[in-house]
Amino acid sequence: MTPNIDAAIAALSHLDIDTKPASVKSKSRDLFWYSPVLKARLDHLVADFAVSPRTEAEVIEVLKVCYAHDVPVTTRGTGTGNYGQAVPLAGGCILHLNKMDAIREIHPGRAIVEPGCLLKDIDGACKADSGQELRMFSSTWATATIGGFVAGGSGGVGSVHWGALRDVGNIIRLRVVTMEAEPRVLEIAGEDLHRVSHAYGTNGIITEIEIPLAPAYDWVGLFLTFDNFTEALRYSYALAASDGLLLKLVTVFEAPIAHDYFQRVKPHVTPGQVVVALMVAPHAMPGFETFTKAWPNAEVIYRSDRSDWPRDPGLVFEYGWNHTTLRALKVDPSITYLQVGYGTDDPIGLIERVRAKFSPEVLQHIEVTRQGGRIGMGGLSLVKFTTEERLDEIVRIHEEMGAPNFNPHRYTLEEGGRQAVDARQLEFKRDADPKGLLNPGKMIAWDDPDWGYDRMYAWPGIKSAA
Ligand code: FAD
Repeated sequence: MTPNIDAAIAALSHLDIDTKPASVKSKSRDLFWYSPVLKARLDHLVADFAVSPRTEAEVIEVLKVCYAHDVPVTTRGTGTGNYGQAVPLAGGCILHLNKMDAIREIHPGRAIVEPGCLLKDIDGACKADSGQELRMFSSTWATATIGGFVAGGSGGVGSVHWGALRDVGNIIRLRVVTMEAEPRVLEIAGEDLHRVSHAYGTNGIITEIEIPLAPAYDWVGLFLTFDNFTEALRYSYALAASDGLLLKLVTVFEAPIAHDYFQRVKPHVTPGQVVVALMVAPHAMPGFETFTKAWPNAEVIYRSDRSDWPRDPGLVFEYGWNHTTLRALKVDPSITYLQVGYGTDDPIGLIERVRAKFSPEVLQHIEVTRQGGRIGMGGLSLVKFTTEERLDEIVRIHEEMGAPNFNPHRYTLEEGGRQAVDARQLEFKRDADPKGLLNPGKMIAWDDPDWGYDRMYAWPGIKSAA
């Protein structure tokens, strides 16, 4: 199958199409470079053109033309993903959904939006309309789209209360266009949501999202210090498990993360202090204070509703999730990260064992989340990068110790997930993308069903550097 790029460009020339090399290059990149492994493999990749449809009818037109001319299509929200999800491995077309950003309907408990809406714009509109907000968002709230979050993200700020994005009920309905000679428009709900959510746009293009909402609050952001990491973990676990307290974020940073990497927090902490970041609903603050009194070593050093810090630290959630890595990278470019699952059975014990093995080469940054009705912990651990071999070894040892990795140094769905074929996603791809033109190279099961996961997958179709 040889793509006929010129024919596709000519057929789409009446749409908002971009063939300028510099801007096509910038639209071909996401934030894969947080990983030195992905940077070495994806940095040179660039699409042939980008097109920004304004309507679902235009999406259908683009897919129809690209299908006819065998042109690969990689969808883009705003390209804030870290797994190279939005990087076109085979060139072709970038389907840039930034112009499909209408908020169509807001109802009690739900909103219907186009995929290119920024998360912050959905929150702003829902709050103004009826005092509602998204249940959860990636910490890239200010810049990321809802389509990219659903297709490429996993959870984030709010997951301590609502669980992961893919948990039943956290997405209500998706409208999806298929990649065929005559693209179909499918309404997807219930069990079928798993076919297209977190599928990196490999098996359909999401053109509308119905997403549940929660009551909006002026969340109080807090920083607390502890002198002891285990005590900070125990406090955070117990706080998150307090059913009467409404929380949106519970994050723990091993020392010296806050001191070394959070410039506006640094004047208020010592290198040895562990910091906990929280978002608490205003009406839960009296309960939070009662709870925290029982922890004499916990000291509240900042609360956003009563700050006397001369330099405002900004939004507290922009220290958590992958913003922790971003802040560390800005200070020390040799830092990269892991995404680790510590589970719900004995997360604190497991974290302690992993920490004893690796600190300070690996520093613990823990996000507390709700998993299947239980309190769980995940790590976006900071790693002082030396070599790819050592990084792989660190990942392997974590897994041997019972802490699975969602490896952010891999560009395929399977390796960034549970290293297993998702049969539902594969089956849907067979139905919805028979030529395999959507985001090619990202689903191992499509290309090599017998892959053994004994080493990093290298898609044979990846464009080589010029
Ligand atoms: P993109 O990066 O543009 O796309 C992501 C994937 O979705 C790509 O594979 C793309 O092809 C596909 N896609 C996009 N739109 C569609 C569509 N309409 N139909 C089909 N496929 C589509 N992620 C989290 O989950 N939680 C976090 O808390 C979080 N924090 C982050 C912090 C930082 C500092 C950074 C850099 C990243 C973080 N991320 C996080 C990753 C990323 O920012 C989020 O997942 C974000 O929501 C992605 O949105 P986007 O618009 O940038 O998507």
